[in-house]
Amino acid sequence: MDEYGPPRCPHDQIVMRDVPDAWECPHCGHQIEIEPAPMPAVFDGPDIEDYRRRRGV
Ligand SMILES: [Zn+2]
Repeated sequence: MDEYGPPRCPHDQIVMRDVPDAWECPHCGHQIEIEPAPMPAVFDGPDIEDYRRRRGV
């Protein structure tokens, strides 16, 4: 019942800490790379419309 929060080390079940671009086990140093989160496409504002008008699209 622990689907949220940091993962646990597969070797010793220690809760892993977050380091840049990865989870790291403070006990054995095992690392799991964190996949970059997809950037949300937010183009629902007036900016893109204004951009289109300026470009004549
Ligand atoms: Zn570990």
